[in-house]
Amino acid sequence: MLPPGWDALGKRSFASDAFDAVLHGREDYRPEDIAYFSGFRPPPGFLKTLPRLKAMFSLGAGVDGFLRDPDLPRLPLTRFVDPTLMHEMAQYVVMHILIAHRGQRAFDRAQHQGQWQQHMLQRASRDTRIGILGLGDIGAAIATSLLPFDFQLSGWSRSRKNLAGVKSFAGADELPPFLAQCDYCVCVLPLTDATRGILNAETFAQLPKGAWVINVARGGHLIENDLIAALDGGHLAGAVLDVFRSEPLPPESPIWKHPKITATPHIAGITDARAAFAYVADCVMRCESGRPLENVVDPTRGY
Ligand code: NAP
Repeated sequence: MLPPGWDALGKRSFASDAFDAVLHGREDYRPEDIAYFSGFRPPPGFLKTLPRLKAMFSLGAGVDGFLRDPDLPRLPLTRFVDPTLMHEMAQYVVMHILIAHRGQRAFDRAQHQGQWQQHMLQRASRDTRIGILGLGDIGAAIATSLLPFDFQLSGWSRSRKNLAGVKSFAGADELPPFLAQCDYCVCVLPLTDATRGILNAETFAQLPKGAWVINVARGGHLIENDLIAALDGGHLAGAVLDVFRSEPLPPESPIWKHPKITATPHIAGITDARAAFAYVADCVMRCESGRPLENVVDPTRGY
């Protein structure tokens, strides 16, 4: 079964003589005919109404949209791991770090005021430290994309990593020393009980003065009021946010007009429909032929 909002492309690439696909919310179906579900944020309680469901396939790299459901069936759940998505996420982060590092916003302002205003770089890239919270598929792709620019790179994860040119910090004990050396702190963690609200006042205080925060993970990682206080108080220099606690960002949110925040509407990595449906078809074929699924989520870990 495919989610609402996806056009017939997915249905055509997925349905065959052997299987049929239905678009939930757009087409009628009998719940007992559904063997597989694919989507991003199924309404809590919905999946338990499908009595013959065999497996669930997330159309996003994150699965918090599934695991928030207290009635989630105890069935295999996979997440979408796609090179194109990883490249897009990496492009987004590299672009925003370079814009901030090179002071490009000041040149934009000067141009619009008709001013020829030269500035020196505030800090060489070799003296600039970039830390990535979450060194999984996307975090590693971001780190690899940053390698040619000569920044000092590090990452924080649960398990120790061995990634060329990237210093590895692991586990809760190594979070404070990790934070203390981040001029740019990029969050690309999954949203779990252990990571919810991890970008908070205490975290920000541990970052060096003048640090930047870039959140491309989930809005639930960030305590937005703490971020605004750290920016207004001058401890943090700026923030780039792609995800928010409430999406779309409510009109009354101070984030919209904050001079030190760049906000984008959850577009850092957009799931490519063709790749997504090839993945769904592959998952179904694996299940039907008894082959193991890939990228199966561990519900106890939460990702
Ligand atoms: P992933 O491959 O599962 O990697 C997750 C990383 O986080 C791993 O390195 C993991 O450590 C680490 N981690 C998890 N819990 C931790 C904890 N408690 N302490 C320390 N490290 C922890 O996931 P991914 O594919 O990179 O995706 C990451 C997230 O990006 C997704 O969950 C999603 O929320 C977000 N995302 C956002 C967009 C967007 O458009 N903004 C698009 C795609 C994805 P280990 O390696 O040791 O397990």
